[in-house]
Amino acid sequence: MSGRESCEGTMEPLISEAIAKRVQSVLTKIRSAEEKAGRPVGTVRLVAATKTVTIEHIAEGVRAGLSILGENRVQEALPKIAVFTKEPVHWHFIGHLQRRKVRSVIGLFDLLHSVDSLDLAQEIDRRAGEAGRRQNVLLEVNIGKEPTKTGFHPEDVVRSVPMMAQLSHTCIKGLMTIPPPTIDPDSARPYFRTLRDLARQIATFDLPTVRMDELSMGMSNDYEVAIEEGATLVRVGTAIFGERHV
Ligand SMILES: *Cc1c(COP(=O)(O)O)cnc(C)c1O
Repeated sequence: MSGRESCEGTMEPLISEAIAKRVQSVLTKIRSAEEKAGRPVGTVRLVAATKTVTIEHIAEGVRAGLSILGENRVQEALPKIAVFTKEPVHWHFIGHLQRRKVRSVIGLFDLLHSVDSLDLAQEIDRRAGEAGRRQNVLLEVNIGKEPTKTGFHPEDVVRSVPMMAQLSHTCIKGLMTIPPPTIDPDSARPYFRTLRDLARQIATFDLPTVRMDELSMGMSNDYEVAIEEGATLVRVGTAIFGERHV
């Protein structure tokens, strides 16, 4: 018997139970945060960040109620998507998207959270056009202007959005951000607020093909604060699947 076979079927019951419990706990906290913020229940959707998570553990999460899965890398996402085609799950792309990978993501992801340049938006539009589709995207904003991070600087997104509004196979649905790391969740609040204000400003441009309905912000440490500041999509990994070891 190979070591691999001996592990099949003995899927650590403790881990799977823990995942189911954590999914419920995160969903409950999302609902409480909505209520606390005076927002209608159900306005915030949970995107489970599944990078490095095994198919078995993702399946456990789906059984426990996850319906949107977010992947960071195209190569890792493709085989996972293939496994879940019969499940009622939607895939979002949340990582940095390389231009040369755009072609392989069109049609697979309901939403690309991380459009971080005009050039990338144009490539998505071109490839979506070739495929006869419209691609939903969010614009990623480097809200803390960190040199190590991708994303539009706030003033650049305001400048670029009218050009992106011309793209006929791309629907801009809102903004996404990953704020600078903070120790306590409350310190992230000003960044979330800035993203919300930016979305409000862009919404006043009243551009066709540009809607500012979605704010993708908040991760395991700070999603409740993000919800208080208007998040509609929270991207949560560790709080569901545990620490990543890869
Ligand atoms: C990994 C990841 C998350 C989830 O982070 P956690 O801290 O594990 O919840 C959210 N957004 C993006 C873009 C990620 O890469």
